[in-house]
Amino acid sequence: MSEADVAGVAVDARHWIGGRRVASPGTFTDLSPIDERPLAEVALGGEAEAAAAVQAAREAFGGWAQTPPADRAAVLHAIADGVERRIEDLSQVETRDNGALLRSHRRSVMPRVAQNFRFFADWLTKLDGGGLEISGHREQVSWAPAGVTAVITPWNAPLMLATWRIAPALAAGNTVVAKPPEWAPLTASLLADITREAGLPDGVFNVVQGLGGEAGAALAAHPDLARVAFTGSAATGRLVAAAAGAQLTPVSLELGGKSPLLVFADADLDLAVGHAVGQYDNAGQVCLAGTRLLVEEPIAGEFTARFTERAAALRQGDPRDEATDIGPNITREHLDRVDGFVRRAVAAGARPLLGGGVNPALGGLYYQPTLLAGAAAGAEILTEEVFGPVLTIQTFTAEEEAVALANSTPYGLAATLFTGSRHRAERVSARLRAGTVWVNCFFVRDLRAPFGGAGLSGIGREGGTWSFDFYADVKNTVYAGQGWRAAAGAGRPGAEDTPSRSVSRRASGTTKRSVSRRASGTTHREEGQKNG
Ligand code: NAD
Repeated sequence: MSEADVAGVAVDARHWIGGRRVASPGTFTDLSPIDERPLAEVALGGEAEAAAAVQAAREAFGGWAQTPPADRAAVLHAIADGVERRIEDLSQVETRDNGALLRSHRRSVMPRVAQNFRFFADWLTKLDGGGLEISGHREQVSWAPAGVTAVITPWNAPLMLATWRIAPALAAGNTVVAKPPEWAPLTASLLADITREAGLPDGVFNVVQGLGGEAGAALAAHPDLARVAFTGSAATGRLVAAAAGAQLTPVSLELGGKSPLLVFADADLDLAVGHAVGQYDNAGQVCLAGTRLLVEEPIAGEFTARFTERAAALRQGDPRDEATDIGPNITREHLDRVDGFVRRAVAAGARPLLGGGVNPALGGLYYQPTLLAGAAAGAEILTEEVFGPVLTIQTFTAEEEAVALANSTPYGLAATLFTGSRHRAERVSARLRAGTVWVNCFFVRDLRAPFGGAGLSGIGREGGTWSFDFYADVKNTVYAGQGWRAAAGAGRPGAEDTPSRSVSRRASGTTKRSVSRRASGTTHREEGQKNG
């Protein structure tokens, strides 16, 4: 074991620790969901490898933290350049590893990986915590590097989801230990190559391969972490949060969803049907997917007819084929889990209007796009995340009922609604429990916006300054209004040290958003408490 050849791309499947490839005594076999054949033998890390990687990241922290922000940003841009140069390699490997469409990897997912690095590199240089002032005192908010960050991520978009956490952590001046998902671990190894070529110092980025319950658990529980960034299921999120909590390590959790997609009778039906069918994207393995279709009674018949016609026309097959719309599910274990949900739902009275099993023409891990109607209120299929190409449809007769149905799960990641009425859109979206609400659209998001979920969907928000708020140690420094009073006999400070100069420089900053978010209503309360 060390190098695998995946579609002509050399992938070193050992760990990446302190700028070196490191093997483990054991390996695990990584299978492709396309045909369930082995792709690579991957290093099986555990406590020792997690500890070695955290140690390497600790040693690299001082140097990286002290690297000026503009220089850190330049390295992140160089990583983005490397990702862009290797989009084809990354796409070919990722498609074989997780079964998602090659065309999506080429056109949107891998470009977004590069964008993750560029966005946080640029945002880093725009962070502006100046402009606060109280009683003549100047307050300067800054984002200080925090330390070693563990990044533990899932397989449904492995490189994109990992870099959504890795890029801001590195931008913030932290060093990183990533634990890739064991069901799709390979592009993390390619990212290690790219970071080395981009000039990222040894130990700033590390990869520990292995199983969640071993390498992942050891990493999350490590006492020398400054942050744990976890993306995955709510069940694992609880374990990670408990392990990190025992060390009082701050955790950011981006977890699962059971999101509603509401269609009101006044909606553009074509638009709504198109987006509803789009929820089968990535074989339904999308955390944000609106898997519960909630349709207003008068249009339910027409909606269902149009939906089933369009969904039946989706082409399922090999994800490397440009014409394919839906590929396989990730592993046999996962497919059996998805199928178990469908079988139990049908046994409990739900009716499949579409699909309901493995595609008979394809076999393997190709589960048919499935639509279930008639599930009883509170049924498992309506409340638990399936994470496969399985949607349910329910009807409602009033807005109140629609909101109640939409909010009837413990999750709160996203919600999508289609309506022709602006007032209804505002009324309903205000009442939906969701980190993101899309109105007459889906999946569009500015990276400056907060991202995260309510309830079982997670803890915390990331995106723009919210990411730096998590990864960095946010600090407020208060400068006395009278300027610099040197001790008797000390020299006068240089002109460049006078506070008025730095105030005016910061006041001209561009990032008004972050300042105003922090500034709102807090200054006077703080002053009132100063003697308390
Ligand atoms: P998972 O929770 O099984 O695994 C996620 C990661 O955690 C993997 O790297 C795994 O190896 C690791 N892990 C497993 N057990 C661990 C433990 N005890 N300690 C530490 N790490 C451990 O999730 P999955 O099946 O890989 O991914 C699917 C889930 O991820 C779904 O619930 C989906 O909704 C969610 N997800 C959420 C988002 C989001 O942004 N909110 C994005 C994508 C996926």
